[in-house]
Amino acid sequence: MPSTQRNEYLQSLCLQCKYCCRVLAHKIAPDPIGLELYKARELEIIHDSQENETWLVIPHICPKLTSKGCSIYSRRPYSCQVFDGRRHPASMKKCLWPKNNP
Ligand code: SF4
Ligand code: SF4
Repeated sequence: MPSTQRNEYLQSLCLQCKYCCRVLAHKIAPDPIGLELYKARELEIIHDSQENETWLVIPHICPKLTSKGCSIYSRRPYSCQVFDGRRHPASMKKCLWPKNNP
């Protein structure tokens, strides 16, 4: 698939999903006191056993997100441009991008 077509396809999947624009994920130290607080506040905590990393997932809808997608798409932050939801522990189970395509 040509790269423009591929990008449009991936973008259409993101428009269906929008997960990455609705949460913030932060790597945290797995300190028991903090974890107890985050659990009490019903925040999602993900442990990536492969990398031995703990992630806190905070619901947060990006103010640039609209029903039609990102309102600043052509000048969205670099981290949004290069993000691959299949590779991040917070989004990998939810990501709609094809698992076997680069
Ligand atoms: S999880 Fe995947 S499909 Fe969903 S918004 Fe993120 S990159 Fe797009
Ligand atoms: S700037 Fe755009 S692509 Fe980035 S999180 Fe916000 S809505 Fe999503």
